[in-house]
Amino acid sequence: MRITILYDNRAQAPAKEGWGFSALVEVRERKILFDTGADRLVLEHNVRHLEVELSKLTDLFLSHPHCDHVGGLSHVLEKAKGVHIWAPYVMGDYLRPRTRRAKAELTLVKGPRCLGEGLWSTGTMGRGVKEQGLVVATEEGPVLITGCAHPGIVRMAARAAKIVGERFRLVLGGFHLARLSPDELARLAEDLQALAVSVAPGHCTGREASETLLTAFPEGQGLSVGLSLELP
Ligand SMILES: [Zn+2]
Ligand SMILES: [Zn+2]
Repeated sequence: MRITILYDNRAQAPAKEGWGFSALVEVRERKILFDTGADRLVLEHNVRHLEVELSKLTDLFLSHPHCDHVGGLSHVLEKAKGVHIWAPYVMGDYLRPRTRRAKAELTLVKGPRCLGEGLWSTGTMGRGVKEQGLVVATEEGPVLITGCAHPGIVRMAARAAKIVGERFRLVLGGFHLARLSPDELARLAEDLQALAVSVAPGHCTGREASETLLTAFPEGQGLSVGLSLELP
């Protein structure tokens, strides 16, 4: 499995940074775009710079309806005709006409479900913002990817761990923790350690939260556009 960060709040020049998230997940024969970032021009720039061919995508996984995750959707659907979109069920009205125009296939996700061999959605979670996470099995353990983790990164990881019945080798993405106190962050890091071996915080995680997590998980690393992780 390989994960390449295409859109994040931080970037390695000449890639462009921007508030939002998108990552390319390549696993077996699947090429899955996880979210699309906020600005289609920034996404387009980074995709070109990283030599990603959107026309080869097999799947588009949308974590939640916020504009910093679906802003690049029109660009992706222009390129990736016939892609299979997996989205939280609350996005049906927004996505149906766009899906039809792009001759894409749309699956609205409610409960936890399998998306193919070694691939699952946590199911749409959360009382406020509805969000799903992507779970990918690898030889050395499963990986969880989240967009903003609005339902809570520990809750999402706990549900995902139940699906795969294993501790995660990596939890990666936006964790949305900027408002937590140092004590709350320390407790959260401990809770996550029970569920994951390593973390890669990015996007909306927050600087202090990222520092706390990377101290608790010395093998972890922060995300930035251009980062590519090989996970055999
Ligand atoms: Zn969000
Ligand atoms: Zn976000």
